[in-house]
Order: sequence, then structure tokens, then C-alpha cells
Amino acid sequence: MSIIQVVLPIPLNRVFSYICPKDIKPIIGGRVKVPFGHRKMIGIIVSLHENIIIDSKKIKLKTVEEILDKESLFNSSLWNLLNWASNYYHSPLGEVLIHSIPTLLRKGKIIYNNPKLLWQLTEKGYSIKIETLNNAPIQQKALKLLRQKPLSFNHIRNYNIKYSVIKALHVKGLCKLIEYKLPINNWYNNCIIKGEKPILNVDQKIAINAIRKEDQHYAAWLLAGITSSGKTEVYLQILENILIRNQQALILVPEIGLTIQAINIFRKRFNVPIDLLHSELNNTERLAVWLRAKRGENAIVIGTRSALFTPLARPGIIIIDEEHDNAYKQQEGLRYQARDLAVYRAYQENIPIVMGSATPALETLHNVFKGKYRQLNLNNRVGNARIVLEQVVDIKGLTLNGGLSHVLIKKIQAHLNAKNQVLLFLNRRGFSPSLLCHNCSWIAECSNCDRHYTLHQYSRQLICHYCHNKRIIPNVCPNCTLKDLIPIGVGTEQIEEKLKQLFPNIKILRIDYDTTRNKNSLKNYIDNINLGEPCILIGTQMITKGHHFPDVTLVSLLNVDGALFSSDFRATERFAQLYVQVSGRAGRANKQGEVLLQTHYPDHPLLKILLNKGYFGFAEKTLLERKLVLLPPWTNHVLFRAENFDSQKAVKLLQKLRCLLENYSLNDKFIWFMGPLPSLQPKKNRRWRWNLLIQHPSRKYLQKLINKSLPLIYTMPEARKVKLNLDIDPTEL
Ligand code: ADP
Ligand code: ZN
Ligand code: ZN
Repeated sequence: MSIIQVVLPIPLNRVFSYICPKDIKPIIGGRVKVPFGHRKMIGIIVSLHENIIIDSKKIKLKTVEEILDKESLFNSSLWNLLNWASNYYHSPLGEVLIHSIPTLLRKGKIIYNNPKLLWQLTEKGYSIKIETLNNAPIQQKALKLLRQKPLSFNHIRNYNIKYSVIKALHVKGLCKLIEYKLPINNWYNNCIIKGEKPILNVDQKIAINAIRKEDQHYAAWLLAGITSSGKTEVYLQILENILIRNQQALILVPEIGLTIQAINIFRKRFNVPIDLLHSELNNTERLAVWLRAKRGENAIVIGTRSALFTPLARPGIIIIDEEHDNAYKQQEGLRYQARDLAVYRAYQENIPIVMGSATPALETLHNVFKGKYRQLNLNNRVGNARIVLEQVVDIKGLTLNGGLSHVLIKKIQAHLNAKNQVLLFLNRRGFSPSLLCHNCSWIAECSNCDRHYTLHQYSRQLICHYCHNKRIIPNVCPNCTLKDLIPIGVGTEQIEEKLKQLFPNIKILRIDYDTTRNKNSLKNYIDNINLGEPCILIGTQMITKGHHFPDVTLVSLLNVDGALFSSDFRATERFAQLYVQVSGRAGRANKQGEVLLQTHYPDHPLLKILLNKGYFGFAEKTLLERKLVLLPPWTNHVLFRAENFDSQKAVKLLQKLRCLLENYSLNDKFIWFMGPLPSLQPKKNRRWRWNLLIQHPSRKYLQKLINKSLPLIYTMPEARKVKLNLDIDPTEL
């Protein structure tokens, strides 16, 4: 008999052995249904031991229930990648493997390799005189159709021909059923490239030539192009050779909204099958795309973070747009960084990877510095797009009209008069971030999180943005019973309302999580904006990323002061990226763009350097500062997050953990511990949250230390009932 070893999607890093009966054939990398405890589970086979003789009296093993796959779900490079990820992120292999496949496969759906069946004429069918069927006119019609090309059952039905008619032809030996296989080179022909190409500028040419020259093996490129420098055109032109060679491209973008924009652009240029993969697809659609990619039937797959795990039959290139975006970091479960995994995957597949951004992550710039990636620059805006004019408005002591300064309101009017569009950025949805009693100073607070409720006027609710807890807006103060509750602070709903009063004849489009929750709503907004009529967009982070709105000429950041004073050392980097990306939405076509930043701190050093030296000036200075104080990317972080309903349990576990880790690293001078400290958001959903941060210049050292201690950690009595999470290379502290 054979024994197979299986990993299961459970938080235990070990394999389980099962007996596999002779008559079924297990495959490494294939799924298997096995009994586990009282239930049945789907696992992945990781090794086989055939023709083994075991003493069934001594070793009691359960038997496999069902083998679900005839071939592995993973090619060797994906297999290596996922094994590596499991190791690197200290996440059980079973969870990593199962996480990487579509939900329907996780649940055990069988993949059928249904060949397409077609009716085709036999030689007799082609040679027979059509008149011989004169007394069977419908058979005659069917014969005529089949003389043009073989037809599937569906086709035949579409021509209103019954199955019995075809059957009759079959009995007469005039037609037969054949299996039709998609030709492998199904998009390889001379007309895959369509649409007009712009005349490239020098920077674009250099970048495209450099990448093309080495596009048949691994190479990691950072395409550092300022906003509106034509990065997408570079992607398009480097794809040409890949597609002509009949290979596939995987393109990652940070947000769903951008997949829609991207697919339109790629469809205009290429006459090849293109698929989207994102969270709005249902499970069936998702599996279909996954299968098409695995079988090599689509040429381009565009998707968000998890699309990274899409199997490709003939991988040719990986492109990561807006590579700096924090959306590439998964913040729950397997906390992976998709950009890093994509680079590893490209290396495994021996294909090029291109990471594009106007504001590269400092990690990425550091990798360029170390010689791991090569940088290509696009320093100029394309066509007639000019560098935007930037202005800081000091709002200290000014009376604001619903968050808008007088200067800004005048500017908005001027841009609208010129028939242009205006984009206002405010990263705070809802009407206002707090509701206060003017009489007794009571504040509406979520007791699950000890955080202010956000007032949502449209849904008439108080909503906690941390735990999504909701309640209706009270009429009177629950504390003093007076009817004197007032909203404090400004959110997007309030700005929208204010704008409607100020500009009654102008279309106002509010784009945030609340207005785009329904399928297609974001797409509708984008279509609406692209009509090009004067309008005002008010939105959160969502509208800042990568969108190309040619008619927006004025962009304003209404209130970003909070970001200037965060205790997370990455806050400055994130602010710089946000500022540059948001301002980059202005003046993308032929019109002069303007950016207006409202702040109470016009002299803040971060603003100064950004405005005077630009993002790369900021990046250089910040990397230097981080080097001096030994912060990533010069060192490495590992973060333990612990949470519990009891305010003390989590911190106690982390204290014990710190002792353990300190003991293991007594002789090391470079290790540095911070914490346990309450997390930036100390309570969420009734759970108290604590962090322990470990820093070391060597990844390997940290890796070993964690490997050594993890098994012990889970056996600590303190670990019981505490939710403990390990975040390798955390991006949020
Ligand atoms: P980025 O991604 O760098 O912000 P895009 O790739 O969106 O910029 O380019 C902005 C616009 O410029 C797009 O409409 C694109 O078609 C156009 N474009 C790109 N390259 C050129 C070029 N060489 N000449 C003229 N227009 C170009
Ligand atoms: Zn009150
Ligand atoms: Zn809450």
C-alpha cells in the first residue's frame, strides 16, 4: 500500500499521514479528502511513499477518503514560492497552500477537463450531393451549416435545429463527434496589437529598450516615473514581445477600481483574452479565471493582491503597478507582502518583474541601492502635461466653511468657470468624526473600542469605524437629557452637503467606501467623471490611486495634519506618497494643474522638503535618517500582536515571550526589543491589543530565533485563549 503525507488548513505546522488504497492514485500538490477528528477535511498531498509495508497493529493510520485531483494544482515555481512563504512568514504550509487556491477548490470542487465536443462532417458528409436530402429539408440545412465549420451542441441549438436531426445525419454516416482542443497558440497571430500608439519620449524609449533586452529571464526593475509620465505606456509596449511569444502576463494593481481602468486600457491595445481577478467576482467566476490562467487560455490576468497566486501555464512577465501601495500587504491571516512574494515568484519562474511607482517604497529604493533591483526613471510628464503648481494655505485662525477655506472656495469657482473638474481629498468618511453634547460635553463613544463614534447623516447612524458597531443617533444627550448634540469635525458627507450649498448647479460626486459598496458603483462614478463635464469630486484614499482623470485641474488636500504627527515611523513615508499621488491627479492632460494644501503647519519640515525637493529628495533624506537610528529597511522587524478580552492577559503573554526571546539571544548585541506596548488602537471590538516588536539587522537571525521559540510559545499556559499573531516585516505598528 502507499502512505501519503498531507497538510491541512489548520494552525498546526505539521504533516499528517494517511493510508492510500491501491486503486487510487495520489499526486503531490493535489487535493485529498481525509478524515480528521470527527470531520472530513480537504488537504494537499506533500509527499508519497509507495509500496510500503507497515505493521498495522503497531501503526494506526486512517485511510484517505477521496483523491480530488489528477494533477498538481501548483507548478514547481508556485510550489516553491508557497513553501518559501510558509517558512518566511512562519505560517503552516497547509494554510498557505489552501489560502492560495480559489474558494471552490478549497471546498473540494472537482475540476473536470471537459473537452469541447463538436459535430464535424465525415468525408461522406462532405462529398454527398446535397439534393439526396431533398425530402429532409432540415437535415439538408444542417448539412449545409456543417459544411461551413464544425458546430457544438449549443451552436446547433442556436440555429433551431433539433438534436434528432443531427442524430439522423450521424446514423447515415454523414457526421461524427470530435473533441476540439483549444490550439495552444490561440492568440499568436499578427494582429494582437491594435489601437494607436503614442510617440514615445526619450525616457520611455530607454526604459522599454532596457526591459525588452532582458525579458527572457529574471530581472527586477523599478520603473520610477513621476505621476503622468506614461508608465502604463511602458507596460503596454514591453508586453508586446511577451504576447508575441505567446506567454502570459500577470498584472497586479492595488485596488479593484484600478483593475477596471487597466482592463479598458489593455483591451484597447491588445486583441488577446484578458481576465480580471478581484474580490467582487463570485466563486464560480474566480475559479473560471484561475483555470483559464492555469491552462494558458488567457494572455493577461489583471488582479489585486491575491491574484499573485494565480497559476500560469506560460508565464512571461509580472508587473506591479503602484508598488509602494500598502494594499499589497495583507494585514490579516497570512500577513504577506505581495510585492516581495512577486519578486520571489519571478525569480522562480525566471521571468522579468517590473514594479512601477511615482513614489517607490523606501524598501524598494533600498533594494535598488543594494543592487537587487535596477531603477529606470521617467522624469517628465507626457505630452503637454505640465508640472503642477503647488500652494500651501495656512488655515491657522481662519474661519472655515465646512472645512473649506475662503481661498479654496474661490479657486474651485475659478476652475469650474474654466469648465474643468475639481478633486477634493479628505480621508474621513461620514458626516463628522464625533458627536458632542454642547451642554455637558458627553461624547458618543463605542464601548467596544473606547473610540468616538462617527456620525453618518445619510444612514442616520453612529458607526464605529473600528468594529463597525452601529446605533441610531440619539435625539437628546443620554447623560444630561438636553437636546444639544453637535457634530464636531468634518467628514466627506459634510463637505458634500456644503458644496451643494456653495455650488448648487454643479454635479458633486462623493466617492468613498459608503458610496461605492455596491458592485459597479465605482465604475459608474469613473464613467461619470470621464464624461468630462465640470464637477467636484470629494473622496477618500480611494480616488487618489493611479486614476487618470484628464479633466481634473484643481486638487486640494483638505486636512492631512493628523498624518504629520503620527507615532508610527512610517507615517511620514505614507504621507509623502499620499501627497504626491493626490497632487498627481491634477493637470494630467494639456491643462495646467494646481494643488492646494490646507494645513495648520505650513512650516512643518516634512512639507518643506516635499515641496522643495520632491519625493526623491524626501526619500533620500528619510533613508539616511532611518539609517542613523537603525530602522527598516536598514534593519528588520518582527511584530507579535496579542489580543484578549481581558485587559491583562495579552500583555502578560508578551512579557513572558520577551523573557524567552531575550534568553535565547543573550549573546547578541544587535537585538532590540520594544514592548509589550499597547497597540496604536489599544482596544478593538472589546479586545485589548498589545504589541511586542523585535528588531535585528539580520533576517536570518530573526528567522532562527522565531523558529526556535515558536513551538514553546504555543505551549505557554499564558498563550491559552490569547489571540497571538506574528507579523513579519510589519508595515503598521
Ligand atoms: P502614469 O501611469 O505615469 O501616471 P499614464 O501612463 O496614465 O501615466 O499616462 C498618462 C496619459 O498619457 C495616458 O493617457 C497615456 O495614454 C498618455 N501617454 C503616455 N505616453 C505618451 C506619450 N509618449 N505621448 C503622449 N501621450 C502619452
Ligand atoms: Zn449632555
Ligand atoms: Zn467599535
